[in-house]
Amino acid sequence: MYRGPLASCNYDCAYCPFAKRRDPPALLRADRAALSRFVDWVEENRIPMRILFTPWGEGLTRRWYRDAIVRMSHLPHLDRVAIQTNLAARVGWLAAADRTRVALWTTFHPTQISMERFLARCGELSDSGVRYSVGVVGLPAQLADARALRAALPKDVYVWINAADGHTYSPAEEREWTAIDPLFGHSVRPHISLGRPCFAGEDAISVRGDGTVRRCHFIDEPIGNLYDGSWRAGLKPRTCVNATCDCHIGYVHLKPLGLRDVFAGGLIERIPAAFP
Ligand code: SF4
Ligand code: SF4
Repeated sequence: MYRGPLASCNYDCAYCPFAKRRDPPALLRADRAALSRFVDWVEENRIPMRILFTPWGEGLTRRWYRDAIVRMSHLPHLDRVAIQTNLAARVGWLAAADRTRVALWTTFHPTQISMERFLARCGELSDSGVRYSVGVVGLPAQLADARALRAALPKDVYVWINAADGHTYSPAEEREWTAIDPLFGHSVRPHISLGRPCFAGEDAISVRGDGTVRRCHFIDEPIGNLYDGSWRAGLKPRTCVNATCDCHIGYVHLKPLGLRDVFAGGLIERIPAAFP
């Protein structure tokens, strides 16, 4: 996973600290330079990899993210490159990518874009052959939209639901959301992780713009740096030091959950190997 300094977004979701945030020009320049350095590193280091961009804000409205993904998609040692996105930006740029190696982790934000427009974008993705998942934050006010989205999308497009921060789900509510996303049960409660083995820091890492390598986005302690090569010595089997893990990009690596098998073939873009 890579996350640079970019923290701005064109959307204004009530549940997000990055809503309508603007980055000053100097930060955007720094983000662009950091991404360029990262792509150069990936190009030069021919290690089999999968890369997921997890920007704080929205990356695909910035040309340098689109260009980076296109460039990386043509690297033979990369199994896949994916990005989390609100799908606000047009998707025509994907025509220049190797579409067998690009994937999008998209989120529908019903207060920010009409269902019709969002579905039109999804249709373009389906037509282009790019793999993508679609998700919704499981807020009660968004249940009807989430159902409508599930009904409108092709059956082979996985719709995931993220439990809303700070919301406790009654058994009835959990059933309603599970009817949309059969794997909602993994999101609805934080996973107890302290002392449990996790692939984070063994074969999965989180990279910051300056090359700092951490096990995952949720543990601050660095295990090395990408650009001085010290990260390699930092990789080893480890157990989690946090009490719980409540974010999909984290707990998907928590070994006792076995979710790597569930998401085999679609680990970074959040597409399970099979779903009803
Ligand atoms: S689209 Fe994502 S990053 Fe942008 S405001 Fe909404 S939740 Fe935040
Ligand atoms: S369980 Fe979550 S917080 Fe703990 S090491 Fe794994 S990804 Fe990080």
